Amino acid sequence: MENKYLIVFNELRNQLLNYPRNTLWNRYLEIIVEEQLKQFRYSDDRFEPEKLSRQQIYAKAKNADERRVDSQLAKNAVKISKLELTLAAFIENQPDCKRVFINLGYKPIIVSSASGGGSKNKTLIWMDIEAIDSADEGNEQLDGFTVLESDDEDPEDLSSITYERKATSDVKPSSFTKLFFKQGELKMMSFKGIVLMLLLLLSFFLDVLIAIYAVFVVMLMNEIPNLKLWQAFLYAILIPIAYLNWRYFFMPLYMLPYHRVVKAPMFFANINVVNADIEMYWDKDKLNVARVTEFTATCPICSGVIELANGKPDQKQPLVGRCREAPHAHMYSFDRMTMKGYFLGVPDYLKYEL
Ligand SMILES: [Zn+2]
Repeated sequence: MENKYLIVFNELRNQLLNYPRNTLWNRYLEIIVEEQLKQFRYSDDRFEPEKLSRQQIYAKAKNADERRVDSQLAKNAVKISKLELTLAAFIENQPDCKRVFINLGYKPIIVSSASGGGSKNKTLIWMDIEAIDSADEGNEQLDGFTVLESDDEDPEDLSSITYERKATSDVKPSSFTKLFFKQGELKMMSFKGIVLMLLLLLSFFLDVLIAIYAVFVVMLMNEIPNLKLWQAFLYAILIPIAYLNWRYFFMPLYMLPYHRVVKAPMFFANINVVNADIEMYWDKDKLNVARVTEFTATCPICSGVIELANGKPDQKQPLVGRCREAPHAHMYSFDRMTMKGYFLGVPDYLKYEL
């Protein structure tokens, strides 16, 4: 008989590695699940949780000596409620991850020893699994997951939105993407990743060359003997082509490591798909992994689809969420970590709506 604890914890560890986030909270989760998995090497079908103190977790995350970690410092740094929320949000925000746990019928949860009140009592933290009730999952999503979303949030609130990330399996890549991305994913330090980077570099130098050459030809048009008009025209046309390549192919990919999410450049988006984004992660070896995905939200003002778009020219941020129906009136900020967005338009606008 397979141990369901082992399956769920293993899956969580894989998902944490697969959707890495370089934050302390995710590091804590990794540490806790790693410790639970170690425990299984000693007992086959039972589950005895490996209970960790805050100091242990903090020390492992910081690669420090446990004995030197101040207990008050660890108490402030490792908050149980925050751990619970981070775990729930992690599963909720990754559709692939959510699906896996629904299929398993169980999800991992954070458990802590009830603090007895006495300051001598060390609080211990570990992980357990909880059955997912598939009955009310259809209309109410997963219980526990919805708590984070917003019980305290006014449903009439027009000032904020929550984004959704499309599951990797639902993304339909273009043939150009398929050339480089394996199942919507590209490791930058792989062979294909390096080829893509070389292509990027080459297109950049070609752009510069074309621009210089075309400008030269146009300027010296009269001095070059036997230059026909159509030839001059051809050279002149190369300038906008070079510009387009620079603007829509080179720059978006070049900015990806800095902005972490960019609109997918022309060739990457499927012709049938209007919207695609590329998101970059640092994987466990600190190497870049790029994934094709899509971030969307429902516009609270008009219930249209909000998708990511360039912030220019009216917004300061490079990437904002714009409503398809009113792209320059219904605008929201975008945060890939919290998946939240806040209204960016004219402040008075929302008052009239309400
Ligand atoms: Zn709208």
